[in-house]
Amino acid sequence: MSRVYNFSAGPAMLPEAVLKQAQEELLDWHGAGSSIMEMSHRGKEFVSVAAEAEQDVRELLGVPNNYKVLFLQGGASTQFATIPMNLLRGKTTADYILTGAWGKKAISDAKKYCTVNLAASSESNKFGNIPAFDTWALHKDAAYVHYTPNETIGGVEFHWVPDTGDVPLVADYSSTILSRPIDVSRFALIYAGAQKNIGPAGVTLVIVRDDLIGDVLPMTPSVYDYAKQAEADSMLNTPPTYAIYMAGLVFKWVKAQGGLTAMATINERKAKKLYEAIDESSFYRNPVEKASRSWMNVPFILANPELDKEFLSGAKAAGLTTLEGHRSVGGMRASIYNAMPEEGVDALIEYMAEFEKCHA
Ligand SMILES: *Cc1c(COP(=O)(O)O)cnc(C)c1O
Repeated sequence: MSRVYNFSAGPAMLPEAVLKQAQEELLDWHGAGSSIMEMSHRGKEFVSVAAEAEQDVRELLGVPNNYKVLFLQGGASTQFATIPMNLLRGKTTADYILTGAWGKKAISDAKKYCTVNLAASSESNKFGNIPAFDTWALHKDAAYVHYTPNETIGGVEFHWVPDTGDVPLVADYSSTILSRPIDVSRFALIYAGAQKNIGPAGVTLVIVRDDLIGDVLPMTPSVYDYAKQAEADSMLNTPPTYAIYMAGLVFKWVKAQGGLTAMATINERKAKKLYEAIDESSFYRNPVEKASRSWMNVPFILANPELDKEFLSGAKAAGLTTLEGHRSVGGMRASIYNAMPEEGVDALIEYMAEFEKCHA
């Protein structure tokens, strides 16, 4: 069996070492005689797995003690609604920064709960940049400011953290969490669906400052109430036990690579060489302004879109899969999260050069 380099945007590649460990432990977890999947979430075995996963992600991200770390369900998309439910706290408006397709969905759900003030948007520029901070029209009485540090479809990333003063800052980190160190204390809430850089689909990481929770909209279901989930160690109902176990293995793998500083060095290098290969050719093009290019998702288009199909089938034959761009934008997209080995990026660059030579 040979594994391919899978450039999927999500669910994405997982580290091979993690998959092998899961395989070894699948039938008999640590001598317990059953799979972790088959164990009660209230039993001491699973409780220890969940506690260790929380401890490891706290350590990796340097989460301060006054923040809760929650493992929730429903994907990042559920957070689009649970954020206003929990964070409006008597206010009626929230500021949103729109830099791509996921931000648009977050806004659409938030509008069901509050007045959304579109404080900045790059939509008129086809989401090809990040609006400069001094152009943002922030409201001082907004309940919070929401933005998307990395837009997975457009491949547009903030390489800075906005300073919103006393207004709580909320970030959808789904596709760039754990790609580099971040200063969690700058944020009120960070959330991320797991299937890009954390583990398999099914669990969503939420990190929230504890003074902001407990004052929810009256119709909020209990499982969507951060304070109740924090009180219950994210086990108000049956949690996605296997996904949490897998996330825990990934956290240990990231630690073993040298933590987030080491991940940042590798990720920056991987992205840089791929963008260089694109920029140096007249055959491929990336539409995002240089200062806002994503380290995680690299979209590129072929000068002649009639060659798209052939590019993809040749790539697949070379063991490079899932390179087609999102259906809304077309072209190609290489997602190169933490688990994509540098050799995978090298192989892609080599294939692109070869393809160009044959078709330019
Ligand atoms: C993938 C993604 C989502 C949606 O995640 P689900 O788990 O499918 O709900 C939201 N935001 C960003 C930035 C994403 O990349």
